[in-house]
Amino acid sequence: MRFRGILLLLALGSCAGPSQHEQARRKPIPAEPDIRICLADLGRAGARFERLPDREFSPGCSATRSVKLLDVGIPVTNLGAVKCGLAVPFAMWVRTAVQDAAHTWLDSQVAKIESFGSYACRPVNNVQGNMLSEHARANAVDIGAFVLASGRRISVKDDWNGADPNVRNFLRALHQSACRRFSVVIGPDANAFHRDHLHFDMGAGRYCR
Ligand SMILES: [Zn+2]
Repeated sequence: MRFRGILLLLALGSCAGPSQHEQARRKPIPAEPDIRICLADLGRAGARFERLPDREFSPGCSATRSVKLLDVGIPVTNLGAVKCGLAVPFAMWVRTAVQDAAHTWLDSQVAKIESFGSYACRPVNNVQGNMLSEHARANAVDIGAFVLASGRRISVKDDWNGADPNVRNFLRALHQSACRRFSVVIGPDANAFHRDHLHFDMGAGRYCR
C-alpha cells in the first residue's frame, strides 16, 4: 500500500518542478555527524571547496553545513551551495565513477559536467503548503549533460534512449554508480519529469530508478 503510494507520488514528481518523493518518506533523518569530519572527508575525496556560512531562508529553506565546490577534478557548471554530506559522495562520483564509465564505454574522458543546479528554495511541485524539496536544503543536485575531452556532448535528454548503445551504457553506468553513493537517484526511467536529468539527493530513504 505504502509502496504503491510512493510510486504514485514518484509518477507525479518532478525536479524541474520539484519531485514529490520526499512526501512519501517516513524514516527519520539520521543525526548528522560532526561537520569537521565531513569537511575532512571532502578534502580526502580530492575536492577543493569553500565552506559557506549557514543560512536560513523563509519559509524554512536553508543552506546549512554547505560548501561551494571549487574543484572536483573537472568543471561542474551551475552548482550553488551543496550540503557537505552530499558534496562528499558527489566529488567521489565525479572523480572516479564518471571517468571510469567514460573509459569503459567511450574510451574517453569527461572534461565537463553540466548541472541544473543544487540549492533552490521551493516546495514540492512548487505548490504552496507542500513539503520542501531536498533542493530547498541544498541536499540535492541535478545533472543534465557530460562533455567529453573530444568536445562531444552527451545529454540525458537526447542520449538516455539514443541510438548509440555505448552512450546508453555510459549513462546507465553513471546512474547505477550513483545509486551506490546517494540515498535517492531519479532518472528518465522513473518518470517523464526526469527525462532530461539525473536527480541525486541525500535525504532520508533509499530510491534508485
Ligand atoms: Zn532534483
